[in-house]
Amino acid sequence: MKQLCIMLVLAVLLIAQNGKGEKIMTEKVHKSAAEWQTCLTPEEYRILREKGTERAFTGKYYHHKEDGNYICAACENELFSSETKYDSGSGWPSFSAAIAEGKINYKEDNSLGMLRIEIFCAKCDSHLGHLFDDGPQPTGKRYCVNSISLDFNKAK
Ligand SMILES: [Zn+2]
Repeated sequence: MKQLCIMLVLAVLLIAQNGKGEKIMTEKVHKSAAEWQTCLTPEEYRILREKGTERAFTGKYYHHKEDGNYICAACENELFSSETKYDSGSGWPSFSAAIAEGKINYKEDNSLGMLRIEIFCAKCDSHLGHLFDDGPQPTGKRYCVNSISLDFNKAK
């Protein structure tokens, strides 16, 4: 009887943990096109929701060098740390790594007659930019991101 009780408690604990884990995994932001249009500027909507690209060398974060975290402009999901930001010379903010696994999703993009990897926010599916293999070591990755897709939280 005692053993059965312990097993029951364990089972409940496991279920509770699973419940928590799934909640984190499925915490997604879903909005209709009309809803996004009301909470984003037309330029943000064009880039974040219609996979647009801001003009090179024009973005507010291209030369930005403060310490802190870059978050998704649409849903505030943390995406990049200033520690991995570097000047790639490309005209767009560039990062050598995501802030953590599971924050960014990746998808093959065959537009413009070339194969690229599109990167988008894992929480709200907003378009961020593209991922290239010419970044600095140790990752060798370049996350090429539109400034408009980002907001910034300054380190305290
Ligand atoms: Zn987002």
